Amino acid sequence: MKDSLITNIKGVGPKKAELLKKLNIESFTDLWYFFPRSYQDRSKTKTISELTDGDMVNISVTVLMIVKDRYTRGKKQKLRILAEDATGRIEIIFFNSYYLSNSFTIGEAYDFFGKAAVSHGKVMMIHPDFSDITKNNTQAIMPIYPLVGGLTQKDFWKWQREALERLENNGEEYLHEDIIKKHQLCSEEYALQNIHFPKSRQKLAEARYRLVFDELLLLQLGLFYLRAGATTEREAISLSVDITAEEYISSFKYELTGAQKRVIDEISKDMQSSRPMNRLLQGDVGSGKTAIAQIALYKAATGGFQGVLMAPTEILARQHYDNLKQSYEPFGIKTAFLSGSLKSQERAQVLKDIKSGEVDIVIGTHAIIQPGVIFKNLALVITDEQHRFGVKQRMDLAYKGKNPHILVMTATPIPRTLAVILYGDLDISILDELPPGRQPIKTTVVKPPQKEQAYDFILSQIQKGRQAYVVTPLIEDSDSLDLNSAESVYIELSKRFFPYKTEILHGSMKQAEKDRIMKSFYEGEVQVLVSTVVIEVGINVPNATVMLIENCERFGLAQLHQLRGRVGRGGESSYCFLINEGKNEIAEKRATIMESTVDGFIIAEKDLELRGPGEIFGSRQHGVPQLRIADLSKHIKLLGPIKEQAKKIIDEDPKLISEKYCPIKKKLNNFFPKTGRDFLIIT
Ligand code: ADP
Ligand code: MG
Repeated sequence: MKDSLITNIKGVGPKKAELLKKLNIESFTDLWYFFPRSYQDRSKTKTISELTDGDMVNISVTVLMIVKDRYTRGKKQKLRILAEDATGRIEIIFFNSYYLSNSFTIGEAYDFFGKAAVSHGKVMMIHPDFSDITKNNTQAIMPIYPLVGGLTQKDFWKWQREALERLENNGEEYLHEDIIKKHQLCSEEYALQNIHFPKSRQKLAEARYRLVFDELLLLQLGLFYLRAGATTEREAISLSVDITAEEYISSFKYELTGAQKRVIDEISKDMQSSRPMNRLLQGDVGSGKTAIAQIALYKAATGGFQGVLMAPTEILARQHYDNLKQSYEPFGIKTAFLSGSLKSQERAQVLKDIKSGEVDIVIGTHAIIQPGVIFKNLALVITDEQHRFGVKQRMDLAYKGKNPHILVMTATPIPRTLAVILYGDLDISILDELPPGRQPIKTTVVKPPQKEQAYDFILSQIQKGRQAYVVTPLIEDSDSLDLNSAESVYIELSKRFFPYKTEILHGSMKQAEKDRIMKSFYEGEVQVLVSTVVIEVGINVPNATVMLIENCERFGLAQLHQLRGRVGRGGESSYCFLINEGKNEIAEKRATIMESTVDGFIIAEKDLELRGPGEIFGSRQHGVPQLRIADLSKHIKLLGPIKEQAKKIIDEDPKLISEKYCPIKKKLNNFFPKTGRDFLIIT
């Protein structure tokens, strides 16, 4: 399949090319792999009088009137299109899409495809897909693409057709016929033709199956390679069995839970082996993961090696540093802190000490993976809150040593379906027991009018000597968003809770200032901390027993769970108030789920259901491509066979150089976003 630039298509000039670029379409290949969002199925066309509430259908109607309304509240635009066919009238509504009014001409006929809403004799369709061709396209199923303003489906169909013509008759196939046969796949060319202009539902299904298969296979292969550094033949530093941490553990203020002991055993065994550990530690918020990291690092250091603990935020890294440093000092273990905010002189000294081996344990942010950081004998790397890092960052850290043992810790339970793919070959340890005496966090969704009572409750907690978090979505007030900002809430609460002390914390403050405030909160000098999500992960102040989240509708489920996890970390009863000022259904669902459970696993599963996995991958897992067509929550059943297939390929030809598999290599490199290196070299 030869690629060429999109501008080679008739009708695509510089202006259209610019718009297409917004969709990341610059070449024919990009166009082929730009999949429809939905299909307009003309075989399901109904007349207006036949419509019933909830029908997903196509209608062919003539436009009578185009009206632009303006909502006063919320300043939402509403575009109304009144249309009719021989049997009745319908109102078609688009929100915040005035530009679409140019797509319609009064008196012309259009097809609309969407969900009909029928009530009290009124028929409506909200945000349907539409097209203005009824004549030239006799095909029953037409694709609808997720376009941007300025592009029409009609134009896009033409371009896609032209691009697809170039695909014809060259029959190249990058998957070997064994694979095609085994998984009963259609050819890639057939799949691409039919995903865009399916000849039938059946063919569309075949096409989709093939493309989903490809995407998941490439994803799986790529992830295998990304972590290839940890494969079997590599020799790791093995710690002597004589190294125990008993003395160190007895310096803790508490007894380890059974789960903690079990996990430490698992990790110790791994570290004594000459095969590098590659382990995921899952434990819900507050389950005591830090202690595990602490003990593992202690062992590495007493064995005479170096260890690293990397955290996603500076605040969390600091917290770990302060704690661990203190606990290691009596045992003669030297700890260093490394983050982007170090002064250059300080940094130079730290780098020197790491290189010479003067420092045993390095704790910091992703500044640790920068090129200038060189270790003497790194044996163990730990990433805390792994879900905030990408796969690539984890691997980069591992490359700082010669096959170090790897432990990744996460509180955000990754739904099993995702874990299979992302951490498929990692061993998994689970902390399924909270330290004793924890009480479930009582969560209440509060409507804005009852906010006062929630704040009164906070005051009563403060009077009992406890501390509180108030979380807001924004730092400052914004003209365009009607949300509570940290600054305005801070001003209000400072007065309200006087003489108790309120402080503010957010991401754009100077590091020294953040440190100062966190310190005074840790030490209990500050009773109320108004903050943005900078406290989302890891922060541990057990005396804080109440959290209030303003505009909770602005936060995702996983995020809410993480935030809430900042309280309930001691023996006292803890409380969480969610102020929901949103009107949308999903926000409400999220709030209700939060009210009903504190179980991270349930929350993660629900999260996946509500927002789909694309987002989880796209925004968080740098280095992992956005899935275009596969949906891990829907295609779970495929994962097993695909993983096996991927393993087989790698077993047979780890470098993908055989004739059988080498075409996959090119695909793979195109599929993964540029990671700065051809990751296939690392086999
Ligand atoms: P997370 O798993 O969320 O990282 P932390 O490691 O921060 O949790 O631990 C949460 C709190 O529980 C900390 O205050 C920690 O000191 C405490 N903790 C950890 N393990 C135990 C234990 N076995 N008994 C009592 N408290 C513990
Ligand atoms: Mg933690």
